[in-house]
Amino acid sequence: MNEDLEDLRTAVPGTRTNELAPSLRARESQNVTFFSDRFPVFWESAQGANVTDVDGNRYIDLTAAFGVANVGHSNPYVVSTIADQASRLMHGMGDVHPTEVKAKLLERLAQVLPPDLNRVFLATTGSEAVEAAMKTAMLATGRSAFAYYRGAYHGLSLGTLGISGIDKFRAPFAGAIAGAENVALTFPGAYGDVANGEAAFARTRAELGTRDDIAAIVIEPIQARGGIVVPPRGYIELLRGLCDERGMLLVFDEIYTGFGRTGEWFGFEHEKIVPDIVCLGKAMGGGFPISATVAREDVMSAWPVSRGEALHTSTYLGNPMGCAAALATIDELDRLELPEHAEKLGRAFASRLDAMRAHPDVREIRGRGLMWGIEMSDTDAAERVVTGALANGVIVIQAGAEGTVISITPPLVITERQLYRAADLLEAAIVAAGEHAK
Ligand code: PMP
Repeated sequence: MNEDLEDLRTAVPGTRTNELAPSLRARESQNVTFFSDRFPVFWESAQGANVTDVDGNRYIDLTAAFGVANVGHSNPYVVSTIADQASRLMHGMGDVHPTEVKAKLLERLAQVLPPDLNRVFLATTGSEAVEAAMKTAMLATGRSAFAYYRGAYHGLSLGTLGISGIDKFRAPFAGAIAGAENVALTFPGAYGDVANGEAAFARTRAELGTRDDIAAIVIEPIQARGGIVVPPRGYIELLRGLCDERGMLLVFDEIYTGFGRTGEWFGFEHEKIVPDIVCLGKAMGGGFPISATVAREDVMSAWPVSRGEALHTSTYLGNPMGCAAALATIDELDRLELPEHAEKLGRAFASRLDAMRAHPDVREIRGRGLMWGIEMSDTDAAERVVTGALANGVIVIQAGAEGTVISITPPLVITERQLYRAADLLEAAIVAAGEHAK
């Protein structure tokens, strides 16, 4: 494993970033990149848990670039596998002529998932995986409404916005978003919320009322973009029971939590239940875009048998480079025992984070495995921590509907030394943010 710590050669951002910023600002949609005099930095390269910017500054990455680089940035085995595949077959015809690498990937996925979850749709992005799950649930139940959670993030496509729990993403496009009959549920476990699974479940039951037209409840095992919110013990198990009782499917969006992030291969393994459908993405390809929707056989069999024209597919379905990357990523997770590493390191790290509770601006610290959130008193404080940490050599981002949470989701290959060094630098940024506010 690559064990480098931070190494800053210039002020952050450096000269080269400052030279590049104006041209990007002039050409990219102004909606995309946030610029200030302290943010962002242009990335040049990344290895393991380190990112190096165009000025030669090396950072410790506590984001895994949105929870993608679980096997480490530019994991050498994944890189050589993609290069090898690219030189033979970069692209194929997903739903027409298959490839061997696709068949192998689907076998391998079935090996790492519980035996019941064995029928797959491949796609490219997380939102597509969620939309395929929604369509599958509709066909399997003959119903068209969904229950989702406030704070939930399942993508920004018009289909997934129908189950988005963050209002600002929906509001401007409300006119084109289907799902007026969808039900928003309260996601349990954030600051000041109910303390146990039973109480949380009683509230969910009340919020659902007597609705019997719900195709599926869509849930993230830990809300990610929503602010790293961990539901109380027992809640999901009770939810599983309710789904069975009402003929609703339970869809787990494991796009963030999957592939070792929470200290198990998949988040649902902490809950002792198996969902009917699971959505995978992000870390699946180790940095190459690929996603999957995996369902139980009897659920997936609601789709008609292809007679030459698939009812649901896309140009890049089963892209050979993506399949090769995913196979290599799964091998690396296995070989390096990264879910176990995340569990062990995360358990110890919890006590290191505990010490940060003493800072007046820190409201709550939540998480599991290598997925943690530090909820700050307000958005400004969180923003100051993110820019302060960057200047200290650590990359973090904000989460939560209002951006009040610092989210910590490092590459799972991060070493103890790197993680604790990053924690010290992050804590220094928290202290500095507090001083600034005085
Ligand atoms: N679901 C979850 C839980 C996510 O975190 C994300 C992305 N942050 C998505 C879905 C959407 O994935 P994508 O951005 O690849 O469409």
